[in-house]
Amino acid sequence: MKIEQYRLIEKSRIKEFLNKLISIYNVVAPVEKGFNNFAFEQIRTADEVRLNYIPTILPPKKYFLPKKETILEFELGDELKVEPVTEYENLVLFGVHTCDIAGIKCLNMVLSDRPKDTAYLIRKKHITIIGIECNNYCDDYASCSFVGAHIPTTGYDLMFTELSEHFIVHVHSSKGMEIVEKTEMFKGADQNTIEELKILRNNKLKVFNNEIPTERRYIPDLFDRSFNATVWQELESKCLSCGNCTAVCPTCYCFDIKEDVELSLKRGERYRVWFSCQLDPFAKVAGGIDFRRERSARQRHRFYRKFRYHIDRYGMIFCTGCGRCSRTCMAGINLKEVLTSLIRESEAKIWRKWL
Ligand code: SF4
Ligand code: SF4
Repeated sequence: MKIEQYRLIEKSRIKEFLNKLISIYNVVAPVEKGFNNFAFEQIRTADEVRLNYIPTILPPKKYFLPKKETILEFELGDELKVEPVTEYENLVLFGVHTCDIAGIKCLNMVLSDRPKDTAYLIRKKHITIIGIECNNYCDDYASCSFVGAHIPTTGYDLMFTELSEHFIVHVHSSKGMEIVEKTEMFKGADQNTIEELKILRNNKLKVFNNEIPTERRYIPDLFDRSFNATVWQELESKCLSCGNCTAVCPTCYCFDIKEDVELSLKRGERYRVWFSCQLDPFAKVAGGIDFRRERSARQRHRFYRKFRYHIDRYGMIFCTGCGRCSRTCMAGINLKEVLTSLIRESEAKIWRKWL
């Protein structure tokens, strides 16, 4: 830990800092939305912000990849005019948990791959990320330690970690340093606070345990053995095919392209909207053939997209352990339980071979 990369701010001054931030930037932060529900929203005063919150209903991906986004407008006069559209605004996202930062890193990986998603990349350039480290679990649905998303690594501009007297702040980019300089509320860290941070991180290893009964490195093998597991058939009868699990997932990025034309038939727009592999029309192709008609096949696809396919392509698990899919599922399908059942089924098969 290089001491010069750290700054300190007294815990009692955090609201003052937020109000100063709001006076300079457009700030988005977690706010309360009824009992134990939270959402990222633009804030006008520090009093709206909740520092202790469980993952928001939608992840911050909504600012990087909006639910609905116009991509071009067209107008038919003497000739057809077509204008590409990119919508973006300068934003500071405050209070982003490390699991959601991991989600943004997954989106970055895919959307900067070829063909590059220009609209996403432009929007990303205009967003500054201020993280806040969780010192304890948000609830039982989380599996962030299993996927290694419980400790800050990269992907943020500033990272706030709560210590006894202060927040210690890791400055990780020039955008982060600009905030430190403009708000003028931070002092340099000293060796004692760096030691306190080290102790906190060591203690976290005891608090955050592997939530799934295997290790991350065995996941590719597990999924290679599980394509025909009975677990998928069990999900067939449970899943309602509502698509909530993918809408709330910070690493799901599938979209559909649609067009609206005005009644005059002279003007219109092309836009993209979030889409979900759990919905009926998603895998339908010409001729009406649906190559993932069964809900079991759709659920299996969702899990393979998180835990297998992207490991080959990007070297990363595309689950951040945020627990949103389990928290939101009306049918009670729980990601940790599904993974545990897959492990048990796979172990039973291996034992049967030996007996
Ligand atoms: S797993 Fe749950 S949230 Fe996802 S589609 Fe099925 S019922 Fe809906
Ligand atoms: S699969 Fe579930 S737990 Fe994993 S990142 Fe998506 S919503 Fe979060």
